[in-house]
Amino acid sequence: MTIAEPGLWLSFTTACAGVFGLLIGSFLNVVVYRVPNGLSVVSPPSACPSCGHTIKAYDNVPVLSWLVLRGKCRNCATPISKRYPLVEAATGIAFAGVVLWAWTGAASARPVDGAPGILVLVGFLYLAAVSVALGLIDLDTLRLPDAIVLPGYLVGAALFAAASIISGDYSALLSAGVGMASLWTAYLLMALAYPGGMGFGDVKLAGLLGMFLGWTGWGPLVVGAFAAFLLGGVYSLILLAAGKAGRKSGIPFGPWMLAGAWIGILAGTLLWRGYLALVGL
Ligand SMILES: [Zn+2]
Repeated sequence: MTIAEPGLWLSFTTACAGVFGLLIGSFLNVVVYRVPNGLSVVSPPSACPSCGHTIKAYDNVPVLSWLVLRGKCRNCATPISKRYPLVEAATGIAFAGVVLWAWTGAASARPVDGAPGILVLVGFLYLAAVSVALGLIDLDTLRLPDAIVLPGYLVGAALFAAASIISGDYSALLSAGVGMASLWTAYLLMALAYPGGMGFGDVKLAGLLGMFLGWTGWGPLVVGAFAAFLLGGVYSLILLAAGKAGRKSGIPFGPWMLAGAWIGILAGTLLWRGYLALVGL
């Protein structure tokens, strides 16, 4: 098949990424439930938590099955949480967005082409999936499991190193290393200075996000790191103002680190240029 139109190719791959994201989102629902409980993500097959009825493949189609079943188990009619189709839809949208971002070089300091571009794209899709899983697990359990965070370092490093070797350009790999080391160190210092405020799960996640932000560019690294505190700080203030949290109550910071990092990755270059223009540099 030859695709003459670049626009058609873009639409086609974005749509494929969206569908792929829906399927990954379905898997992430399993990950989010099972990993914090130390259960296998591959077996046993998904079952209704209420009646134990194994969910058939035709009832496991992302989003559609939930709509067809009107949010109820086919066997016992126990309601199925809206969160499942929402996570699937969000992951589909995230995957399509990452492909659009990578293909168009939108707001990116380093547009990526050819084989290295594919490797980098796979890396960021992986980060998107990890982000959805970690954000939800941190909200549910106030934990960021090593089983999900630590392999991310290996996957990111391997893909970025391979992309650099093929392209012969090591500048992005270098800034990825700097980003990883700087965010890891900054969060470690915060965790040591304010025990109870920042956890070591946050430190390990910071290094991972620093690697991907650093690869994207210096602007994204600064914006991504700053945005996490801006979002997390505003959220904490809202909770305090609403009287819903005391100063001591556990507020997960991981979701804000992840959201901040994605702002940095997708729009950091633009925002950083805008900021520099604003202060007259
Ligand atoms: Zn059931």
